[in-house]
Amino acid sequence: MTDYGIARRRMVEEQLVARGIRDERIIDAFLAVPRHLFVDPAVRSRAYDGCSFPIGYNQTISQPFIQAAMMQHLGIKSTDRVLEIGTGSGYQTAILSMIAREVCSIERIEALSAAAEAVLKDIPTGRIRLRAGDGSAGWPYYAPFDKIIVSAAMSKCSEELLSQLADGGGLIAPVQDVEEQLVLYSKKGEAIEELKLSRCSFVPLLKGVG
Ligand code: SAM
Repeated sequence: MTDYGIARRRMVEEQLVARGIRDERIIDAFLAVPRHLFVDPAVRSRAYDGCSFPIGYNQTISQPFIQAAMMQHLGIKSTDRVLEIGTGSGYQTAILSMIAREVCSIERIEALSAAAEAVLKDIPTGRIRLRAGDGSAGWPYYAPFDKIIVSAAMSKCSEELLSQLADGGGLIAPVQDVEEQLVLYSKKGEAIEELKLSRCSFVPLLKGVG
């Protein structure tokens, strides 16, 4: 029988800490959230292998390292309100809720949003608001957000999302240009600074609902 606690600690040490994740709050959140509950039961024993897995509907739960790296680049504070585009399994939503004040998360596939909600209600988390729908225009009702994390690849960063950032806030997203890259956008007054970070590979951000 798999000891998920031991497997989770090993994942955090070998996949996150050994690869440069230093933020203690991110590390503690990955140690706390049971990733095996967010993957298909058929792959549950491998949930802490550090890889992505299919979650149905042609979507995936991303690698923990890329999720942790995106959060570390954003520098999420405990007072931050965070918008997440692409709830997927809800795993990253749970992690974010433990390091931020509130997470608003949108998923275009209603069945995935409902499945994520079912798992999230049964485990300890911080404050989470979920919505099923197209997140490409953000969630203006709850804007502005201190941080925005986009978990699906865009062809360019949407002005609507950037307009929902608070002054001093940051948005991280995979952007498909000549190649797909993680890009960090920082809002300083009216200006947006853009920093290209590293190559990546995500499922595409799709318009409309699934
Ligand atoms: N972070 C998630 C997790 O921990 O399971 C994985 C996210 S998965 C890589 C990307 C998700 O973005 C998919 O579930 C996909 O349906 C969703 N997505 C794609 N386009 C979207 C859109 N326009 N609005 C909201 N969600 C979208």
